[in-house]
Amino acid sequence: MSDASGASAPSESREAAGSAEYDVIVIGAGPTGENVADRTVAAGLRTAIVESELVGGDCSYWACIPSKALLRPPAALAAARAVGGAREAVTGRLDAAAVLERRDSFVSGWQDDGQVSWLDSAGIELVRGHGRLDGERRVTVRRPEGGTLVLTARHAVAVCTGSAAAVPGLPGVAEARPWTPREATSAKSVPGRLAIVGGGVVGVEMAAAWGALGSKVTLLMRGERLLPRMEAFAGELVAEGLAERGVEVRGGASVAALRRPDPRGPVTLTLEGGEEVEADEVLFATGRRPRTEDIGLETVGLEPGSWIEVDDTLRVSGVDGDWLYCVGDTNHRSMVTHQGKYQARVAGAVIAARAAGEPVDAAPWGRHVATADSAAVPQVVFSEPEAASVGVTAEEAERAGRRVRVVDYELGNVSGAALFADGYRGRARMVVDLDRGHLAGVTFVGPQVSDLLHAATIAVAGEVPVERLWHAVPSFPTVSEIWLRLLETCRDQEAAG
Ligand SMILES: Cc1cc2nc3c(=O)[nH]c(=O)nc-3n(C[C@H](O)[C@H](O)[C@H](O)COP(=O)(O)OP(=O)(O)OC[C@H]3O[C@@H](n4cnc5c(N)ncnc54)[C@H](O)[C@@H]3O)c2cc1C
Repeated sequence: MSDASGASAPSESREAAGSAEYDVIVIGAGPTGENVADRTVAAGLRTAIVESELVGGDCSYWACIPSKALLRPPAALAAARAVGGAREAVTGRLDAAAVLERRDSFVSGWQDDGQVSWLDSAGIELVRGHGRLDGERRVTVRRPEGGTLVLTARHAVAVCTGSAAAVPGLPGVAEARPWTPREATSAKSVPGRLAIVGGGVVGVEMAAAWGALGSKVTLLMRGERLLPRMEAFAGELVAEGLAERGVEVRGGASVAALRRPDPRGPVTLTLEGGEEVEADEVLFATGRRPRTEDIGLETVGLEPGSWIEVDDTLRVSGVDGDWLYCVGDTNHRSMVTHQGKYQARVAGAVIAARAAGEPVDAAPWGRHVATADSAAVPQVVFSEPEAASVGVTAEEAERAGRRVRVVDYELGNVSGAALFADGYRGRARMVVDLDRGHLAGVTFVGPQVSDLLHAATIAVAGEVPVERLWHAVPSFPTVSEIWLRLLETCRDQEAAG
């Protein structure tokens, strides 16, 4: 793993300490920070990006990329086993060591040279160290080799410091040395028994990954349903899939305390009610907190440690002067990489427009306003089966008082799905807004449904009238014929009143 010690790199700022002035300063070189900087440099603004760990951020080294690298080999194996004729050719087991090695290659051995080269090619100047706001348009950087660099921004500062794991302060938690998603995505060996606390996306994906790699996984969740932010059937079908693969999913299980008296021995979780669960490792997948405790928020009148509120141009609320922006996880609008990068494109365009004295509301393509963060956020859970959704669930729509029609269809009844995998099981739901005549939300659960999601995202974000979707004819025989079946069912429901 890289020590992120600030070894000299081509794009790195040569000022060891002292001061420097830029048009734009970005704090945090995760996917969102990189994209803000890319946009502002493209607009001709001299931009510095400050990074305290690895250029590329959590997404590249401890989240999206390694988790999907762990999940892809079991998914490929399951896909082959689901097709007669191919199944017979698959006689071996998953090679866990090879999977971990492949994961390591995707994270470049936790070295960021490749991403540093990209910064260099894009003309973005890297400053290694811990960045802190220091009043209006100023950022101080604690350099890894010692000393402080003071940076001043002529136009804007963008906070893109991301989020970190939130681990509850339970008795014994420090002694238990639990895994966070960082350890779960970077572990070098497969634990015999893994307890996972949390039934959200990260808990589910890590249960699928480590279960497939050979751990005996017990997933403990407080509620009764996995993936509580999705349609209920998503959690149910994913729980069935995990159970079929040997994962024990336990609802209504709240961890009260932990102990690991021997640092090299097992960890014991005591549940509320007194029952105990023993494991070799325990992962807390219990949510995120903003990385804002030590970034100088108090110097601009904001609360350290809080999520940072922004308007739809990603400008920080409550700070005067149009100079401070916050993009990505830290603003808590939508904590996925693709949505953070979308915000980054908006923020970059807004910063460039304001620097040029142009209005920010008249841009073509509406590219100065982040409108899709709440209405049309696509999300994929890479479990087996996969779950993919965009827009609102039926429950959310009804809670918001919207008049909706809920249309369900079994994916296994689509001919393309039957060809795709023997005994294909899955379900789709579309939620139609009856007053506006377009889709408010779509959910798919089944093998490889992630590939169906973007069509749904276009329909929801584009507010395409449902009657118009009738003329978007899916190819035969593909799984996307689900669209035809959903629309037919919708029409039949409408005819039946
Ligand atoms: C296990 C897991 C799997 C995930 N899988 C997916 C997925 O498949 N798809 C998806 O879209 N999303 C996924 N996510 C979410 C995704 O990782 C985040 O939404 C994304 O990383 C947010 O990007 P960011 O740039 O805001 O923050 P980050 O990626 O966290 O980057 C922030 C950067 O800021 C740096 N930094 C922080 N403070 C300072 C400071 N004071 N000075 C200098 N630098 C600083 C950090 O070192 C870091 O490099 C996953 C998350 C987890 C935990």
